[in-house]
Amino acid sequence: MDESKDHLEQRCPRLGGPVSFRYCRTSGDDVSACWKIFDCWWESFDVAGYLKKHLPEDKFNMLVNAKPKPKTVSLVELIEQAKKRAS
Ligand code: SF4
Repeated sequence: MDESKDHLEQRCPRLGGPVSFRYCRTSGDDVSACWKIFDCWWESFDVAGYLKKHLPEDKFNMLVNAKPKPKTVSLVELIEQAKKRAS
């Protein structure tokens, strides 16, 4: 994986604070990218091109077709993932 974009930061609409691109590309299910990654990053750089280049085709297609989850479920998941990272 190309890590050259990992340091980029922006405000996460789900968490309400700044997150790095590295977080966004690893915070989804199975340490894949967050389902909102296209929405959140398209203005900063060619995130679709980046992910297409660096993800296996099936993962990229899953991300393109990802649907939002109910907010409470995804928040619980985000918290659990944050706890796992901290431990
Ligand atoms: S891609 Fe996901 S984790 Fe990253 S800023 Fe957007 S909502 Fe937050």
